[in-house]
Amino acid sequence: MIGSAAGDKFEKIRTRMVQEQLVPRGITDPRTLAAMARIPRHLFVEDAMQAQAYGDHPLPIGRGQTISQPYIVALMTQALQLKGHEKVLEIGTGSGYQAAILAQLCGQVYTIERINALLVQARKVFDQLRCMNILSRVDDGTIGWPDNSPYDAIIVTAGGPRVPEPLVEQLADPGVLVIPVGDRYVQELQLVSRKDGRVFTKIIENVRFVSLIGVHGWQSE
Ligand code: SAH
Repeated sequence: MIGSAAGDKFEKIRTRMVQEQLVPRGITDPRTLAAMARIPRHLFVEDAMQAQAYGDHPLPIGRGQTISQPYIVALMTQALQLKGHEKVLEIGTGSGYQAAILAQLCGQVYTIERINALLVQARKVFDQLRCMNILSRVDDGTIGWPDNSPYDAIIVTAGGPRVPEPLVEQLADPGVLVIPVGDRYVQELQLVSRKDGRVFTKIIENVRFVSLIGVHGWQSE
């Protein structure tokens, strides 16, 4: 947990991001809004791009990957309906921003990234912000992280051709999984819920993510 990130020079612009980009688009969960207002998003991008970090768009983070648009991070976070005690698995650590948001809202975050260089950088920021409840590893996240399963919530922040079966297997009952599914260019954001032994899928909206690459994802970049 971050005691206070208040006082940095982007505080006002971050509040404006919440008021202008998130609230008018239907992000209403107070805990999600508070986490987005608190986490210093500019620390998750290169120094030269810090001034753009609160813009209404994704940004490159190197290796052909991106940090998602603030609204999409908020939308996916809100969909998980976290109350504070949950165990959450994230696939696609990238910059680490989404994981840091989740870490404010649940008990423990497990996050997997396939590109080591990105994870090394993300871990530096987790340390800087003293996010103590994030465990991370380099691996193919489409096979999940069985050792710590089941997870109350799973969030996949890269787009795949289908929902990876191991992730559904590692989902608790009750549990929710949010994932972009589609082709390489456009996906539908799916919310898969397990309750009383049954699995339901709901479409949230169309999104555009970088590719989920792995055994249960796309086979190549
Ligand atoms: N959640 C990130 C978004 C990063 S973009 C953030 O907040 O910045 C998606 C990330 O998913 C990329 O870094 C990409 O390398 C990673 N990725 C793609 N396929 C993966 C897989 N099978 N396992 C783990 N990470 C994967």
